[in-house]
Amino acid sequence: MDKERLLRKVVRDINRCSLCKKGGTGKAVAGEGRATATIVLVGEAPGKEESKFGRPFIGRSGKFLRMVMANIGLREQQVYITSPVHYLPLRGTPTKAAIIHGRKHLLQQIEIIDPRIVVLLGNTACIAALNNKQELSREHGSVVRLGGRTYFITFHPAYAMRFPEGKAKFICDFAKLKRLIRMSRA
Ligand code: URA
Repeated sequence: MDKERLLRKVVRDINRCSLCKKGGTGKAVAGEGRATATIVLVGEAPGKEESKFGRPFIGRSGKFLRMVMANIGLREQQVYITSPVHYLPLRGTPTKAAIIHGRKHLLQQIEIIDPRIVVLLGNTACIAALNNKQELSREHGSVVRLGGRTYFITFHPAYAMRFPEGKAKFICDFAKLKRLIRMSRA
């Protein structure tokens, strides 16, 4: 099976998965982008806007993220955007169980796409992809190589937007990401 078909199958699996739905509400947000993407961005869980339309990062923090991406020249067709938790959590923040379950689908998406870089937006993404919480105030902007993959750690855009300092650090991290992308093409 080709990559696009395999990826569509994972999206179908997420949409049908009763465990993903447990503790969540709204439409499933399974991920969006091309199977040929070279960068995968991993968030946390859909917000209200995302769960209404079934699309990732289309609310306030998504608009900010997409603006910062565009500013470093990252085009939509280069990226696949997804998250470990696929429904808007009923209690606001995703439970550990939801993250542990959702990582199964997330890792399948990453495996199929086989991107050059996986960008982890915040600690839920770090826990899901690296199986490890990070000290983000120290580790943001850094690269982790694990299991033959390259991960880039930064804040979640919703967190970054909240404080001018966080915003500046997030923008600075994306400037580093731009250099990393350039190097990964060499
Ligand atoms: N936050 C996320 O992590 N994902 C979304 O799609 C929206 C907000």
